[in-house]
Amino acid sequence: MRSAPRFLADEMLGSLARWLRMMGYDTAYARDVTDGEVLRRARAEGRTVLTRDHQLAERAGEQGLLVESDALEDQLVQVSCTLGLSFEESCTRCTICNGGLRDATPEEGARAPPRVRGSQERLYICQECGQLYWRGSHWSRIVERLERVLELRCGNSPR
Ligand SMILES: [Zn+2]
Repeated sequence: MRSAPRFLADEMLGSLARWLRMMGYDTAYARDVTDGEVLRRARAEGRTVLTRDHQLAERAGEQGLLVESDALEDQLVQVSCTLGLSFEESCTRCTICNGGLRDATPEEGARAPPRVRGSQERLYICQECGQLYWRGSHWSRIVERLERVLELRCGNSPR
């Protein structure tokens, strides 16, 4: 089985990077680095470069994808449909640092706001930066938006 694609988003694509992490894809974010460094890192780590920069996309060749739109939803559709990505709710990564999530221990969960601790929410923690996550109403709205965007737009376009 092929392993899931990994990405390196250029600095104009911070929102897209966060959404790809939410979808479960390992997505690094390049900030304040030269194109040469972006390309080196992409090769070294086996990442596809996502960029709004024609020149960088060209230099990345097969290992790059030129993101055509400035609008987040269009970007998500383009990347997901072009590369056949899907949304795995169970694989969500930390949107801040791209770290993997695991269940939080009761001690770690004690840092959550009282209204969250009092509910039946399952708590997750980022293994890298320690950020706590739970799937409240905000999460449901995100999932709905994502599924709607992907279904409608990918479903209607010829493969
Ligand atoms: Zn993190």
